[in-house]
Amino acid sequence: MGEFELIERYFTRTARRAALGVGDDCALLAPAPGMQLAISCDMLIEGRHFLPTVDPFKLGHKALAVNLSDLAACGTKPLAFNLALALPSADDVWLDGFSRGLFALADAHDCELIGGDTTRGPLAICITVFGEVPPGQALLRSGAKAGDDVYVSGTLGDARLALEVFRGTRSLPQAAFDAARARMEQPTPRVALGLALRGVASAAADISDGLVGDLGHILKASRVGARIDTSIAIKLIANKVHLTMGDGQFDSKTALACVLAGGDDYELVFTAPPDARNQVKAAAVQAQTPVTRIGQIEAAPGLRLVDAAGQLLARRFAAFDHFA
Ligand code: ADP
Ligand code: MG
Repeated sequence: MGEFELIERYFTRTARRAALGVGDDCALLAPAPGMQLAISCDMLIEGRHFLPTVDPFKLGHKALAVNLSDLAACGTKPLAFNLALALPSADDVWLDGFSRGLFALADAHDCELIGGDTTRGPLAICITVFGEVPPGQALLRSGAKAGDDVYVSGTLGDARLALEVFRGTRSLPQAAFDAARARMEQPTPRVALGLALRGVASAAADISDGLVGDLGHILKASRVGARIDTSIAIKLIANKVHLTMGDGQFDSKTALACVLAGGDDYELVFTAPPDARNQVKAAAVQAQTPVTRIGQIEAAPGLRLVDAAGQLLARRFAAFDHFA
């Protein structure tokens, strides 16, 4: 199978929304009249972002999911994407699984593949997504104000817990591991929530490198600080039951590290003024996505992690950084 046969067989479908899709030198795409294009790009490298043993179907899902998560964080509606692929070989089984996983999620969000590039090389996947949003309505990192509430969607930390099981530093019963592994391998991009939060949230970001790091981006861009109640945040890890130490005690140290600095969650962290609490609730219901209020924005710069009694935690948590 040659390069063009591969593209034709696995990545070419009839263009629906785009004026021109896969097959020419460029694709042609217009957002709806009056809308702004939202554009984002995320790369996945074998050994760095995913394990070589991962099921290609799940990898296809994740490669697009992490990109849709960026569109969600900006409150934009997915339209289309480009796929750049480096493959060690043209493996039919791999390509079949990968493309099925990719298109299953793409179709669920009505987001069409309009082009890309295919080359031989160490396995790497780079997707560029295009979304649309009315001008002035994109959710930015820079809009948080002192006094705003801080929220996160869904659950946090389970993806990291699964990674630790793969690394052999932890063990979990099979059912618990399967659930955590699904969070790591097939994250759910919070597109519906991002859309529902337009005009409600003052700032938003998606959590790819851990809550502390990604909330930190909002704080920096908004020139504010925050206070987070870790006694609420720690409950966001879905797998509480089996997170115990040798003596059977709840391992709160690991739980908190996974929640605050685990990474790979693809949930949204966002802020909204206290008088919008009912609107936030309504957005969560509309998007069928749970949200939890975990703290407050404050004028003083910096992130303050406190316990239930309001005492500052001595422990420090770092965001994931590829070059740190
Ligand atoms: P060019 O030589 O102009 O760079 P290519 O030969 O790389 O174009 O690709 C031919 C067509 O196939 C283009 O329309 C390109 O967008 C599309 N394409 C290439 N690789 C992929 C891919 N992995 N997924 C979707 N479309 C692809
Ligand atoms: Mg090319």
